[in-house]
Amino acid sequence: MATDYYAVLGVRRDASQEEIKKAFRRLARELHPDVNPDPKTQERFKEINAAYEVLSDPQKKQVYDLGGDPLSQAGGGAGGFGAGGFGNFSDIMDAFFGTASQRGPRSRTRRGQDAMIRLEIDLDEAAFGTTKDIQVDTAVVCGTCSGEGAAPGTTAQTCDMCRGRGEVSQVTRSFLGQVMTSRPCPQCQGFGTVVPTPCPECAGDGRVRSRRTLTVKIPAGVDNGTRIQLAGEGEVGPGGGPAGDLYVEIHELPHAQFQRRGDDLHCTVTLPMTAAALGTKVPLETLDGLEEVDIRPGTQSGQSIPLHGRGVTHLRGGGRGDLIVHVEVQTPNKLDPEQERLLRELAKLRGEERPLGQFQPGQQGLFSRLKDAFNGR
Ligand SMILES: [Zn+2]
Ligand SMILES: [Zn+2]
Repeated sequence: MATDYYAVLGVRRDASQEEIKKAFRRLARELHPDVNPDPKTQERFKEINAAYEVLSDPQKKQVYDLGGDPLSQAGGGAGGFGAGGFGNFSDIMDAFFGTASQRGPRSRTRRGQDAMIRLEIDLDEAAFGTTKDIQVDTAVVCGTCSGEGAAPGTTAQTCDMCRGRGEVSQVTRSFLGQVMTSRPCPQCQGFGTVVPTPCPECAGDGRVRSRRTLTVKIPAGVDNGTRIQLAGEGEVGPGGGPAGDLYVEIHELPHAQFQRRGDDLHCTVTLPMTAAALGTKVPLETLDGLEEVDIRPGTQSGQSIPLHGRGVTHLRGGGRGDLIVHVEVQTPNKLDPEQERLLRELAKLRGEERPLGQFQPGQQGLFSRLKDAFNGR
């Protein structure tokens, strides 16, 4: 045969079994049809499988090294004639991967689909974690037929058209001579069996829809879009096949007072000018309860006060983010005569009757806010 199996795997003719195995694994990962579905790559994948089938088996390798074609005997004469040598390919796949190929009747049992459900939670639930009961509406195994799909007292019967093989063969003439082609049996859709009396409960599908309540543990630190995987809680497959997974996608509801950025929380406190100048303590209802925010005398507008460890729990690694209080100082815009007199007196005392002001390029307030945004504040 013309195929150089050593070249296909990219190994030397004196390569060890270990080297052959390594080369095959690397190529198989790269060219696996699940990763790389284009037809050309699939051809290559077949080639490397054939090459490995031969070179990994000492007996076949010897036949090959002596100039024979060990794969032409592998099929045991069962089909493969006139099909260009690929007829026994599925047998090789079976032998190597131990998986059922397209050959033979296909199973009525298949894995169920994954399902996704949206769950809205509050900020404090996201911050500390919680447990929620959720209603899920998915397919479960039919109790009447236990997933078999046949009405009670009846069973599936071997299909008489394909005699249980799941496929029917047809011999056609072509310029190559007689070619045998197989296609899924039209009577049993390739299952090899027919269900004469389908289960009345599930119409033969083997599953029914049902609503159930699941208790979901939400870990502390989840964020908008976090998906929690509940293995095997999705839809049961046709024919009572294994269930898919259920994904719970978190949607965090906006909080009245705090804005979340990562695991930090932000809020703004508006203070009168006098309080900012003199200093004060303002009560703040944090996620951990009532706390006092210490406003130091001389606090400026735009300044931020971090409350360390009062943010959201880190999803990984423990610890918590901060709660950052941004201060906005308000200048009084209505003064009664007495207040105005006092303020003028204060200005006089401070020598601020005609202040010169300090000019800087740009817009200071906006600039510092941008800087804060860059620093993730
Ligand atoms: Zn049923
Ligand atoms: Zn059939």
